[in-house]
Amino acid sequence: MMRRRRVLAGVGGAVAASTASTKKAAAQRARPSPPPPPGPGDALIVVDVQNDFIPGGALAVPRGDEVVPVINHLAKAFPWVVLTQDWHGPGHASFASSYPGKKPFEVVKLPYGNQVLWPDHCVQGTEGAAFHRDLAIPHAQLVIRKGYNPSVDSYSAFIEADRKSRTGLDAWLKAQGIKRVFCCGLATDFCVAWTAQDARKLGFQAVVIEDACRAIDLDGSLARAWEAMAKAGVVRSSSATIAV
Ligand SMILES: [Zn+2]
Repeated sequence: MMRRRRVLAGVGGAVAASTASTKKAAAQRARPSPPPPPGPGDALIVVDVQNDFIPGGALAVPRGDEVVPVINHLAKAFPWVVLTQDWHGPGHASFASSYPGKKPFEVVKLPYGNQVLWPDHCVQGTEGAAFHRDLAIPHAQLVIRKGYNPSVDSYSAFIEADRKSRTGLDAWLKAQGIKRVFCCGLATDFCVAWTAQDARKLGFQAVVIEDACRAIDLDGSLARAWEAMAKAGVVRSSSATIAV
């Protein structure tokens, strides 16, 4: 950039034109072109749109309810849709109530690493674990439940928090010939981010649809999640560029 300015110094009009085109190029770089529209090799993964993550629920994500109409609309553009459900037994290892004296949002060390402790949420068979009643995607082919292992949490829809146990989602997607996954739902900085990054790890292209997600944002977790996703090659997109 500096060298270019020096070379062009003194050629007034050329400098102005060059600056304008440089600015335009920079703007284009900042706004990457939207991903190609969904086709037969694409699946939408709708992460944890469950009552406990909606305002009024046990682990409410701020404005979590706002994703429901956006996702209902988006889903119509996808031939394949997978719904995920956080699905814990009572006394789960991720619940603060399972550790005397511990409070929600504290961190404990478990055999597989650090675990954020959450309020009891998405207990199997409860109303809190049910999908939001307005979520309307009748053509969704698969529901993946995760977090049912009593001693291991699972933010990701692909690999549990021990980073070894698989949910089987990648094999199912591959069996259907799916090459690219679009992730949305709750929450951006935990289950959506982990799912998208694991999708990349397992050989899929991955897109996160930002306005079809909402975040918890615990101590800067949202910024860190976007950074990690960018590093993993996850594309950041918006519903308007995917489903008109
Ligand atoms: Zn959970």
